[in-house]
Amino acid sequence: MSLQFHNQLTHRVDTFTPQIEGKVSLYTCGPTVYNYLHVGNWTAYIYWDTLIRVLQANGLRVERVMNITDVGHLVSDADEGEDKLEKGARREGKTAWDIASFYTDDFIKGMARLHLLTPQHIIKATSYITEQLELVRTLQKKGFTYQIDDGIYFDTSKFPSYGHFAGLDLDAQKAGARVEFNPQKKNPVDFALWKFTPQGETRDMEWETPIDLLEPIVADGLEYEQANKKMGFPGWHLECSAMAMTLLGKTLDIHTGGIDHIPVHHTNEIAQSEAATGVTFAHYWLHNNHLKVNGTKISKSLGNGYTLNGLGEKGYSPLDFRLFVLQRHYRSEGNFTFENLESAKNRLHNWRNSAALRHQTHDRLRDDDEKSTDDESVSLYASSQALIEAISNDLDTPAACAIIDEAFRKIDGINLEDIHQHALTSFIETVDNLLGLALFDTSKDISDDIKRLIIERERAREKKDWQAADRLRDQIEKSGVTVRDTAHGSIWEYVA
Ligand code: AMP
Ligand code: ZN
Repeated sequence: MSLQFHNQLTHRVDTFTPQIEGKVSLYTCGPTVYNYLHVGNWTAYIYWDTLIRVLQANGLRVERVMNITDVGHLVSDADEGEDKLEKGARREGKTAWDIASFYTDDFIKGMARLHLLTPQHIIKATSYITEQLELVRTLQKKGFTYQIDDGIYFDTSKFPSYGHFAGLDLDAQKAGARVEFNPQKKNPVDFALWKFTPQGETRDMEWETPIDLLEPIVADGLEYEQANKKMGFPGWHLECSAMAMTLLGKTLDIHTGGIDHIPVHHTNEIAQSEAATGVTFAHYWLHNNHLKVNGTKISKSLGNGYTLNGLGEKGYSPLDFRLFVLQRHYRSEGNFTFENLESAKNRLHNWRNSAALRHQTHDRLRDDDEKSTDDESVSLYASSQALIEAISNDLDTPAACAIIDEAFRKIDGINLEDIHQHALTSFIETVDNLLGLALFDTSKDISDDIKRLIIERERAREKKDWQAADRLRDQIEKSGVTVRDTAHGSIWEYVA
């Protein structure tokens, strides 16, 4: 089977070949933990989780790093403005450390609620300050940096391929540079590797800038130390390069992020990593498109950045939302509406009922000949294979959803005796492995007592005792399941 992904590096769909056979190194830009994640943020992590799952389904061993941005992400991409963490701290009257810790915990809990696989390494930017400074040192030794009043910057003019990744027109950017562009910067797109704490301010998160990285200010003795003491903090882009390369080596197989990362964050990651190492930073770059809400960009001022808890309050589970996300291809723009979420919730409910059919059929002992002529099982096994192929094809999750609908449509309404239990169970497992929808765990069998009531109701119907049949139906529904009468007898389903 071949895996292929749209690669921002080549601007086309490429067949995926890892550097080392059977092994994949993968880095995902993680969240900035200054607030709850909104539905848009979560879509990114749901798609990248699907990527991990399909790599694994193709027999690859994935080593994955995800960072937690707990310092240095400024409100403006132009290295200006407040650090989002420090801003969050002021908003809540806590320290930036408390804010980071609270929202990191919330992120980890949210990942579990969405059934996202845990990366081997989820690491905080503040735990890798030494490595980030070391990268600045390497870049400095190679002549890629310069110091201005507010920090140490990367000189993009020293990296000739700077704009290639995003197709940037640097001349136009220069001509159109905004007035507030820091005039000390040599080029408008130069970015801060390390920023200094502004004079007279203290930050919750700051570290002493190693003296060898600073342009020395001449003085004697103690005064020298005083004069050359500068507190500072890393630029946002630096952390991803430093952490990715520390744990995964100079060249990664795959790097993922949102489309908003292409022109600045990933462009800068590539520049500083490749300037430092001289080799390609990542072979495949995958980006998820954005989710809008009611056709509008998600923004704080509109209050449309729903959280998982917000969806829960309206009666939608994280898995309803997960399916809502997977119904769209990761490279097309999404639109969140409660109507769309409702339809995903109904679809998931129907899938659970189809999954529950495995409790209502029996695995018959068959010889191989009989098996090979059994249409239902052959078709379900084929659907499992088709699912893997769809997702291997640049994560085509909408096609995968259509395959699942079709597979369940085929078994709906047929004689329960004709459903091959093992084939159905194996199909459900494949769906869960690839899409993480927990169909298996959320389609539990009913108790023997309820099963007895269902049989009693069938008997009452056979005797045309409709009153008893209705009374039994009410009793059954109290346990959260209902019965549906088909041409082939009654089946039970979960109440919506
Ligand atoms: P941040 O916490 O701002 O660093 O963002 C976390 C992740 O969410 C990044 O990968 C962004 O690309 C992604 N992201 C932000 N807004 C959206 C959106 N509306 N739709 C999809 N992804 C988004
Ligand atoms: Zn990043």
